[in-house]
Amino acid sequence: MNKTQILIIEDEPALRTMLEITLQANNYAVQLAKKGKDGLIMAENHPPDLILLDLGLPDIRGQELLVQLRTWFTNPIIIISVQKEEEEIIKALDNGANDYLSKPFRTGELLARMRASLRSVVAEDYQPVLQFSGLSINLEERTVRREEELIRLTTTEYNLLLLLAKNEGKVLTHAFLLRTIWGPGFINQSQYLRVFIAQLRKKLEPDPNNPSYIITESGVGYRFLGMFG
Ligand code: CA
Repeated sequence: MNKTQILIIEDEPALRTMLEITLQANNYAVQLAKKGKDGLIMAENHPPDLILLDLGLPDIRGQELLVQLRTWFTNPIIIISVQKEEEEIIKALDNGANDYLSKPFRTGELLARMRASLRSVVAEDYQPVLQFSGLSINLEERTVRREEELIRLTTTEYNLLLLLAKNEGKVLTHAFLLRTIWGPGFINQSQYLRVFIAQLRKKLEPDPNNPSYIITESGVGYRFLGMFG
């Protein structure tokens, strides 16, 4: 079987080496770029299955690189950023990044985020039923079941859940969710989102206070996780 190809675009030597060693030890094939321009050329020559992209690069701004990549590159891109850069993170997610990791991050977290992003690519083929741990969504019937039990959702709750579930593993920003579900005039109405997320959790989550499906990314948005354990 061919190894999954990861392109790392990161200018800090220590972090680059740590990522290389970790990913190789976990059976990924790794390409390394120290600069944005090198990364862009490598991605074009050998399109990877996933890109880890540092936002702070010496030659091109990470955001600009992301926009350029997203004109043709459809596989997952995970942003690596410094902590407390919420606005930059939100911008990156709106520019098409799938997820982000704030430095310093744990290896286990990095690998879990990568698996979730890679899994969402596989799930893109049309399936009439989306199957997750203990939860299924039937796209033809527009029904949701937890174990075998039918869960009654309003149209908005269903649409919101479906949008999150179809982007499994990906962080969706508040503005993106509000714009997509309610329309462009609603991007500042984050209270709508809070109310509907709370309702969904009450109906879906085994423990609504410790959600396992709909995860809060504080100050940024929400992420759907479909597989546990
Ligand atoms: Ca950097």
